[in-house]
Amino acid sequence: MLNIVIFGAPGSGKGTQSERLTNEYGLLHISTGEVLREQISQGTELGAIADSYISQGHLIPDDLMVNVLADVLDKNPEKTARGVIFDGFPRTIAQAQALNDMLAKRGTRVSAVIGLEVDEEDLIKRMLDRGRQSGRADDNIETIRERLVVYHRQTAPLRDFYVSEGIYLAIDGNGDIETIFRSIKASIDDIKG
Ligand code: AMP
Repeated sequence: MLNIVIFGAPGSGKGTQSERLTNEYGLLHISTGEVLREQISQGTELGAIADSYISQGHLIPDDLMVNVLADVLDKNPEKTARGVIFDGFPRTIAQAQALNDMLAKRGTRVSAVIGLEVDEEDLIKRMLDRGRQSGRADDNIETIRERLVVYHRQTAPLRDFYVSEGIYLAIDGNGDIETIFRSIKASIDDIKG
C-alpha cells in the first residue's frame, strides 16, 4: 500500500498535484477541505460547524477532524486498498499522531510525506487567482493572511515531525505544474524501489 501525505501551505498546489497522483498510482484522494466544503453545501450540522472555522481561516478542532477522517476511511474500505493520498490532513501534530494510530490499526502506515515548498508571495497570488476563478469563500486576502498565520503556527511544525520519522520528501513547489509533478513522481518511484 502506498499512503502519501501531501503537505504544504495553503495555495501550495496540494489539490492539483493530488489529482494527478491519484490518476498515476490508482490511489484514493481524500481532501479534508473538500469533505468539509461538501458538508457546508449540503447544509449539514457538521457543515455549519466547519463553516464557522473555515470562514475565519482557522482549523477545525482536532477531535472533530480525526472523526471526520476515520469516517471517510471506514466508508471506503475497497477504495483504500491500493493506498490513499491525504490532502490537507494532518494539519497539527495531534492529527499526525492520530493518523499514525489509525493506519497502524488498519495494518499500514504513511509511506511518504511530499512537502510542497513554495515562496510566500506566490502562495498569496495563487489563492487570489483561485478565489477569482472558483469563488472559494476563504480565498480572499483577509482570510488568506489568517490561514498563513495559522499554517506557520500550527501546521509548519509537522515538517520536523516527519523529518524525524525519516519520511519527509521536500519538493520545490515553485514553477509549472508539470515540472513539479515530475519531481514528485521521481521521489515516489524512488521510495517504491
Ligand atoms: P483546504 O481545502 O485543505 O485548504 O482546507 C480548507 C479549510 O478547511 C482549512 O482552512 C481549515 O479551516 C479546514 N480544514 C481542512 N482540513 C483540515 C484539517 N485537517 N484540520 C483542521 N481544519 C481543516
